[in-house]
Amino acid sequence: MSTFKAPKGTYDLTPPDSAKYLAVREALSAPLKNSGYGYIETPGFEDVALFSRGVGESTDIVSKEMYTLTTKGGSELALRPEGTASVLRAALEANLHKLGNLPVKLWYSGSYYRYERPQKGRYRHFSQVGAEAIGAEDPALDAELIILADQAYRTLGLQNFRILLNSLGDKECRPVYRDALQEFLRELDLDEDTRRRIDLNPLRVLDDKRPEVQKQLVGAPVLRDYLCDACKAYHEEVRDLLTAAGVVYEDDEKLVRGLDYYTRTTFEFVHDGLGSQSAVGGGGRYDGLSEMIGGPALPSVGWALGVDRTVLALEAEGIELELPSSTSVFAVPLGEEARRVLFAKVTELRRAGVAADFAFGGRGLKGAMKSANRSGARFTVVAGERDLADGVVQLKDMESGEQQAVALDALVAEVQQKLA
Ligand code: AMP
Repeated sequence: MSTFKAPKGTYDLTPPDSAKYLAVREALSAPLKNSGYGYIETPGFEDVALFSRGVGESTDIVSKEMYTLTTKGGSELALRPEGTASVLRAALEANLHKLGNLPVKLWYSGSYYRYERPQKGRYRHFSQVGAEAIGAEDPALDAELIILADQAYRTLGLQNFRILLNSLGDKECRPVYRDALQEFLRELDLDEDTRRRIDLNPLRVLDDKRPEVQKQLVGAPVLRDYLCDACKAYHEEVRDLLTAAGVVYEDDEKLVRGLDYYTRTTFEFVHDGLGSQSAVGGGGRYDGLSEMIGGPALPSVGWALGVDRTVLALEAEGIELELPSSTSVFAVPLGEEARRVLFAKVTELRRAGVAADFAFGGRGLKGAMKSANRSGARFTVVAGERDLADGVVQLKDMESGEQQAVALDALVAEVQQKLA
C-alpha cells in the first residue's frame, strides 16, 4: 500500500484478472476486424465544444458528467465521455469520406470518462470497444452492426442478454412527435427539473425510472405512431434483416438513449444479471451528427460496447474464459553457471517464438518451482552443475510430471516439437 489510491470511481486492472479484460476486448472487436472495419485511435481529450455540439448541451453526459479543463494555453478541453463524436471528427479531418467508397467503417477501443455517481457497473473511467459506419443510409448497415455485437457477446458465451430496438424517426417526423409529447407532458404533475427537461429534451422524460413519473406517462404519445413512411419502411427493413439472421430482439418504444444525435434506429444490449446498470452496449443511427459538427451530410450508424460491464456479465453467468497460459517454458537454474546458460536459452527460446520466463532473483529451488507453477508454464527446464557437465538440461512436462534429459543444443527444437 502506498499513500495513494486509485481515484474514486476508478479501479486498476492487475494480473491475473487483467487477462480477462484483454480477452473481452479482443472478443468484442474480432467480428469487426472480420467485417471490413479499420482500426482508428483518437486522443483521450477533445475540444469541449465537439461534445457540447455533437452529444448535445441538454444531455446528462454533457451538462453534468464531463471532465473539462482549461489548458495553460487557454484551450477548453474535455476528457472524452464517448467515442462517436471523436471518431467522426477524426474521419472528417482525415477526409476518409472522400478517399474511398462509402461507408467508411471504423472500430476503436479505449478509455472513456464520465463524472457519474459510482456504483457497481458504473465508473468514472471505463472502457469501450466501438464501431462506426460512416456515410451510408442503408438498413443492412444498421442490421450488420447489431448482428456483429450479438455475435461478439455469443462468442464469449453470454446468453442472458436481450436486444432492445426502436426507431427515433428523422428530422421530418421527430419534431412533430416532440411537439405532441411536450403538449402531453406539460399537463402532468412534475418537479422543476423534469419540467425543464420537457423543453430541452422531452424524449428523456420517458426514460425517467421513478414510479411517480412512470405512472403519469401511461397514455403518452408513442413515437411509433408518428413515424413518417420513409422511417417506417427503413425500420421494417432493419427488423426483417435481423429476423432473417436469426437475431432475436424486442421492440422497445421507450428506448431513447441519453445522447441527442440519434435518429431512426436505436438499440441497446441489456444483461439481466447486472442490476440497475444493465446496459452492456448500445448504439444507433446518427444521420445529423456530421452536419452538427460542421461536416457534410453523412448518414451514419454505430455502437459502443462496455468492456467493464461485459466482464461483469460473464461473472453473472458464471462463465470462465479459457485463457491460455502466457508462458510455455519456465527456466530454473541451480547455481551461477546454470544461471548464465539458462538465461541465454530463454533468450533463444523467445527469439524462436516460444513464450518463456526465468526464475529471477536467485531464490533457490523451492521458490523457483513455486514461480514456475504460478506461471502456468507447460514445461520447466532445470539445470545444475552436473547437468551442464553432461551437456544437458532436465525438461519436465508439468502436465504429465514426466522428466527427461535433453541435450542443451537440442532444447529449442525439442520444446517446439512438443508444443506443436
Ligand atoms: P453509452 O454511450 O452511454 O450508451 O455507453 C455505451 C456502453 O458503455 C454502455 O452500454 C455501458 O456498457 C458502457 N458504459 C457507459 N457508461 C459507463 C460507466 N460510467 N461505467 C461503465 N460502463 C459504462
